[in-house]
Amino acid sequence: MTIRIRPQPVPQLEIVLFDSAFDQSRNLARILGHELAHIAYRDLSAQDHDDLLAALYRFEFNDASGKKIYIRGRNKFVEEDGKLSPTEDIANDIEYFLFDPKRLKEVTPTAFDWIKMHFGANFKLERVIK
Ligand SMILES: [Zn+2]
Repeated sequence: MTIRIRPQPVPQLEIVLFDSAFDQSRNLARILGHELAHIAYRDLSAQDHDDLLAALYRFEFNDASGKKIYIRGRNKFVEEDGKLSPTEDIANDIEYFLFDPKRLKEVTPTAFDWIKMHFGANFKLERVIK
């Protein structure tokens, strides 16, 4: 079984859930929270995007094409795959803000503070059934 979700108001964007998402051992809400976090991150304004990266990563510079490159200034991540890319790291941070804020606060307090400031202390997943 595969379920496709089209988050509004961007119906051309979809999240695809595979069978493993429905395993008893998995938390489906948390999986969705993580995938929606990727969308929330993608949809930040250019200014917010830069602010967030500057808050989480210590060094930035432009590569040969002028694209900004961010280098992490820390070794601790809520999930190991956060080391691979800021996109994954920030989706993990938002997921932890929603599902395990205590751990996020311990590991990456700058991310906790930024997410709380940007999305508000009551930021959470809502159940919408139409
Ligand atoms: Zn991800």
